Parts: sequence; structure tokens; C-alpha cells
Amino acid sequence: MLVATWNKGRRSMFDYLIVGAGFAGSVLAERLARGSNKRVLLCDRRPHIGGNAYDEYNEHGILIHKYGPHIFHTNSREVFEYLSRFTDWRPYQHRVRASVDGQIVPIPINLDTINTLYGLSLTSFEVEQFFKKVAEPCEQIKTSEDVVVSTVGRELYEKFFKHYTRKQWGLDPSELDATVTSRIPTRTNRDDRYFTDTYQAMPLHGYTRMFENMLDHPNIKIMLNCDYREIEKDIPFQEMIYTGPVDSFFGYCYGKLPYRSLEFKHETHNVEVFQQAPVINYPNEHLYTRVTEFKYLTGQEHAKTSIVYEFPKSEGDAYYPVPRKENADIYARYKALADRAEDVHFVGRLATYKYYNMDQIVAQALTVYAKIRGEKRALATTAQAPYLNDRKRAIHAPANVRPNGNGHGNGNGHRPPTLIASNP
Ligand code: FAD
Ligand code: UDP
Repeated sequence: MLVATWNKGRRSMFDYLIVGAGFAGSVLAERLARGSNKRVLLCDRRPHIGGNAYDEYNEHGILIHKYGPHIFHTNSREVFEYLSRFTDWRPYQHRVRASVDGQIVPIPINLDTINTLYGLSLTSFEVEQFFKKVAEPCEQIKTSEDVVVSTVGRELYEKFFKHYTRKQWGLDPSELDATVTSRIPTRTNRDDRYFTDTYQAMPLHGYTRMFENMLDHPNIKIMLNCDYREIEKDIPFQEMIYTGPVDSFFGYCYGKLPYRSLEFKHETHNVEVFQQAPVINYPNEHLYTRVTEFKYLTGQEHAKTSIVYEFPKSEGDAYYPVPRKENADIYARYKALADRAEDVHFVGRLATYKYYNMDQIVAQALTVYAKIRGEKRALATTAQAPYLNDRKRAIHAPANVRPNGNGHGNGNGHRPPTLIASNP
């Protein structure tokens, strides 16, 4: 076969095969190509780059997030500055409301939540006393139930957390690690932002555009609609970066790791505004957990508006690792295999079975890159290798390997990539 002949007695066609074009795979592709002048083949079984953060213009011209709402927030200046090479930003502070007892109230629970829910006019000090009175002390906080009940008591736990969590995870909060509901703070002031991170913003032209800019390098070739198993034996490469589910990589030899899935129901309505907040959570009613209206997130102005409902499921695409002891034990066995797998680096939410946000995945990928280079992360993150357009290294890609910048077939209405960062 052509590829094999070409490779005989020569260097591999690619230094890296990267499986998955989400944050983990794309950051590593960018760093290896731009920082180390490595030749990278990035493949994804989906028909687009961006992984779960992929966004596109729908048939009405409204920018939507295909796999549910993605809001960027981080306390890491390094991560924010790194991504800022590929996008400008739209400042955005996310706000969420919950539908409880027939009222729409702020979540995270804050002073206004309590006053609205109970028809009170407590001060911050008084609400603190209120929480102290209703909280049920817990010797050791182990589960997601412990976290909430020990902070705001059982009644608020049942109104806001118990049923939402059962819907989202198919498990009772008492069966999930504390880390799950710990994501949601409780406040005694009127701050109704979902996040309090230093950097909170949305990519000005969307996530997909940011990914296009990130991957716009002559050393990066992209194959979409391509499961790595279809090509790994035919296309020579030196090392692999794997960002898919770790159990699948090892043929489920220790059994299936549970991942929670979602079904997204997208709708467009012929009104300018559909709901009173960017996201409304429905802890107690409906089969869906939340409804997101995208124009709040993107700032787009349009006579119509697009929303998405999220219906949790156990089967389907893997979206969330499920944080609980039993699963950590299974993962530990896979991790031991992963640690021994020579020339394969496991990175990302599915491959390291971590309930990580986008910024944490970027940080994780930058750390892996620094390890590969054997230098400090701060140095590795800013490394720029001169691009050697050396004929000996010219790549004769098979016909189905599409060089990027040549249209990824996203069909998403994004304009062609413009590199905001300086080109190598
Ligand atoms: P992914 O984005 O899942 O990318 C992995 C890629 O690998 C996928 O594209 C997949 O198709 C590909 N792949 C898998 N197996 C194969 C194979 N065999 N061959 C080829 N390709 C393969 N984070 C935030 O910071 N803020 C938010 O608001 C936020 N909201 C979220 C909302 C939802 C509904 C979900 C599910 C997640 C949200 N996240 C959010 C988390 C965020 O999506 C992840 O942190 C991030 O996208 C993980 O990136 P990744 O590259 O690890 O994985
Ligand atoms: N949660 C809840 N009620 C809410 C919001 C969150 O019970 O109104 C719990 C639920 O278990 C959820 C977890 O807190 O899965 C984390 O919420 P987050 O909004 O961070 O979830 P994500 O955006 O990652 O789906």
C-alpha cells in the first residue's frame, strides 16, 4: 500500500496521531505543531472539530451550541492568555434561575432565593442565621447529599438538588461523590452569577472559529468522520494522544465505565426572547433538566431565538464521567494500563475520567505537552518552533486526509479561519 511503501526505511509520516478534536486533542495538536514543529494527524469520528464545545449557525442563522451550553470561565491566567491567541472575547457573566414551587428564583441559592421562596425580607446576616438553623451538621462530608444538607438543610436540598441530581445522573445524591454538588456554592449575599472566576467570557466569534484558528498550521492535518481504529494500522505515526473514552481504548477489558449521556432537543421560536434568563433549571418537573437560550450567551441579535432542552440518558455518546467510588475503582485499573501503554498519552475528560470543565482540560493538555517537552509548563505553553518547510518532510497525504484551512466540511456557516495569533 502506498503509505506503507512511502514509509519504508524512513521517518513516520506523522509524529503524532491525535484521537479527538475537542479541547484536549486540539490544544495538543496546536502545541506540538506550533511549539515543536511536529507533524500531527488529528482525527475525530464526528463530522466537525471542537468536540463537545462545537458551535454552529443553525438554519435560521442563530449561533447554537450543538452539545449543550458551554460557558468559558477560569481562574487561570495562563489558560486564558493561551486561548486568547486564537480568539477575541465577549465578556459574559452567566446567570441561572431555577423553577421551584411555581417561582423562578436564582441558583446558586442566595439571599434573593430565600426571600422570594419564603416571602421574607431577610438581610445577609439573617439568612446566614437561617442557614445555620436549618443545616444538618454532618461529621464527614462524603456524598453530594452531605454537601447540600449540611449547608442549607433538607428542605432546600429536596427543592433544588435531590430531584435534579436524580434526573441528571440516574443516581441519588447520596450515591455520588461530594465533588458533584460542590460545584454549586451557597451565598448569603445577592450575587446571582453562576461562576465567580476571574476570567469569564465567550469566544467572540464562537468556539468553532477559535478551534479553526488553533488548528490553522501547515503541520496539522485533520480527518473527520474517522474513528482512529479505521486508520491506526495504515497511517504510520510515532506516538498517539488519545482523548476518547479510556474503557473503549482497552476493549472494555475491566468492564464498561459508566458515562452519563444527554439528548439535546433544539428548537427555534419566532420571538425575540423566549425566557427570562440564559438558563432555567427544572429540578422537579419535566424529563429535561434545563433549558438554555443561546442569544444570552453569544450576544447575538436576531428576531428569532434558539433554545435547547437537555434530557439525561444512560446510553449514547459519553458526556460526563460519573464521580463515585465504584467508578473510581474501575478507572484506577484502566489508568494502570494507560500508564503502561508506551507511546500513548491519555488526555481529556473521557480518557482520564475526570468531570473537568473546559479550562481544566486546557490546563491538563498544556501539562501533558510540557511533560513531552520535558520543560516547565509556562515555557512549553509559549514555545514557538520555526516551521521548517523542508521538502524531505513534505507529506503526501492520502486522498481522504484533508489539510485544514481547506474547509473541514463543518457546513456551519463560519467564515474561513483568520489567525488572530501571529503566524509562525
Ligand atoms: P471532548 O470534547 O468530548 O472531545 C473528545 C473527542 O474525541 C470527541 O469529539 C469525540 O468525537 C472524539 N472521539 C472519541 N472517541 C473517538 C474515536 N474512537 N475515534 C475518533 N474520535 C473519537 N465546560 C465548561 O468549562 N463550561 C461549560 O459551561 C460546560 N458546559 C458543558 C455542558 C455539557 C452539556 C457538557 C456535556 C459539557 C460541558 N462542559 C463545560 C465540559 C466540556 O464540554 C469539557 O470539559 C470539554 O469539552 C472536554 O474536552 P475533551 O477534549 O476532553 O473532550
Ligand atoms: N445541581 C442540582 N440542581 C441545580 C443545579 C445543579 O442538583 O439546579 C447539581 C446536579 O447534580 C448537577 C451538579 O449540581 O449535575 C453540577 O451542576 P452544574 O450546573 O455544574 O452541571 P453541568 O453544567 O456540568 O451539567
